[in-house]
Amino acid sequence: MVLHYGLFIDGEFSESRDEATLDVLNPHDATLLATVAEAGEADVDRAVEAASRAYPAWSSLSGTERGRRLLRLADAIDDHADEFARLESLDTGHPIRDTTLLDVPRSADTFRYFGGMADKFEGNLPPVDAGFLNYVVREPIGVVGQIVPWNFPLMFCGWKLGPALAAGNTVVMKPSELVPLSTLRLCELLDDAGIPRGVVNVVPGYGARAGAHLAAHPGVGKISFTGSTRTGRSVVAASAGNLKRLQLELGGKGANIVFDDADLTAAVNGSAFAIFHNQGQACIAGSRLLVHETVLDEFVERFVSLASSIRLGDPLSLDTEMGPLTSLQHRERVLEYVALAIEEGGEVLTGGGTPISPELQAGYYVEPTVVRADPASRVCHEEVFGPFVTVTPFRDDAEALAIANATPYGLGAGLWTRDLSRAHRVAASLRSGMVWINCYKRVHPGSPFGGVGESGYGREMGFDAMREYTEAKSIWLNVDAAIPPWYDRA
Ligand code: NAD
Repeated sequence: MVLHYGLFIDGEFSESRDEATLDVLNPHDATLLATVAEAGEADVDRAVEAASRAYPAWSSLSGTERGRRLLRLADAIDDHADEFARLESLDTGHPIRDTTLLDVPRSADTFRYFGGMADKFEGNLPPVDAGFLNYVVREPIGVVGQIVPWNFPLMFCGWKLGPALAAGNTVVMKPSELVPLSTLRLCELLDDAGIPRGVVNVVPGYGARAGAHLAAHPGVGKISFTGSTRTGRSVVAASAGNLKRLQLELGGKGANIVFDDADLTAAVNGSAFAIFHNQGQACIAGSRLLVHETVLDEFVERFVSLASSIRLGDPLSLDTEMGPLTSLQHRERVLEYVALAIEEGGEVLTGGGTPISPELQAGYYVEPTVVRADPASRVCHEEVFGPFVTVTPFRDDAEALAIANATPYGLGAGLWTRDLSRAHRVAASLRSGMVWINCYKRVHPGSPFGGVGESGYGREMGFDAMREYTEAKSIWLNVDAAIPPWYDRA
């Protein structure tokens, strides 16, 4: 059955003004899964108006009351967990094992975390000059625009809607045109959770049209953007009109360093998760493996053997460890990087093609790919965003750090060592918003998530996220201060 969803504006689904629609395809076999109304400029305007109307009432609710409703929404996601896991797998190609164990519970838990946070996020009382009381309250920003990519749509709802709503903002979210289904299904649960009409509006559409219009909209006070660095730059430019606040979660090229004293079994397994989970479509993927020269051969042999044994298949099958990439266009892009790696003199150690199995021919599959590459090559610098990892040897800690930091990105990085001093030393010297020691890609709603350099600015999660979605207002009261003598003649 082919589903159909409208735009979700002011608590209702409606068609777009110009009746344009998007086709949503199943990446496993390229069949039509759904048609979805495609938002244009007029629809984004309607959504911003609805969010503006809803703002006074929502922002005036107590934190306890907003939190209660977010907790109900978290429970509703859990109650529909199987359905969400299936829908997310169908739409994105993530294996059902992943959507069941990670995407769906993480989304619910993030709403739960921010539901709990809503009545605990406090202002402060700076100690100022004698005789004055100064207190700082954190106020919501107003209407927030949220623009998200296609790699973890339901999870990003928790990451973005959770703190924005907990802080008292109302939202217009533009999901990726490729994978809007779980976000639209979530909209159907808002009313029962007690989230009033207009507080959340969802406008699937193309970036150049709906996204750009939202980013430039004078009625929007902040844009929280997750996506590529290239698009991030146009969001910055578009936001200049009304000097919106911005939060940018952009691309990455994560270095994952294996030292000679590492537990190699843990490092091989962890490094495979770092790159191949979600088909490598993760901003924080460990896409550059740096391995100490003395353990290179053993590590590579075991890593390549693991990579080549990963089971590709129908995302709905419980056996599947890797599904298809999310779109045909993206698969072509990843395959172009394989060709580039070869052109640049890289050696493909495993993978590099599409699987030969006939039942996967129609889908957007790419084999887990490991390439031995020179650290100066383009494939070691540009984000591939697929199941594609480069391996490069290094001689000592200084060289590992120099290679790891030789990128304008700075999102996630990992290292594997048993030496505690080295672990702390290297972690301190990595130019990266997040560092994982003897693990990779750990994320939790309480721990700040974000990058430095061309990976963007601002942080998701935790108290940082609440600060991102609020403005500080500083209020001064003269209790019994002697007024300074400048004008005392009146
Ligand atoms: P993208 O930049 O092409 O698109 C992201 C979103 O922006 C989509 O919704 C798209 O429609 C919209 N968009 C496109 N052009 C726009 C414009 N001119 N104005 C406003 N919006 C526009 O990225 P993608 O291909 O969807 O996602 C992959 C990228 O996202 C990778 O670079 C990845 O690293 C990054 N990403 C970053 C994080 C993070 O937290 N740092 C997380 C996930 C993905």
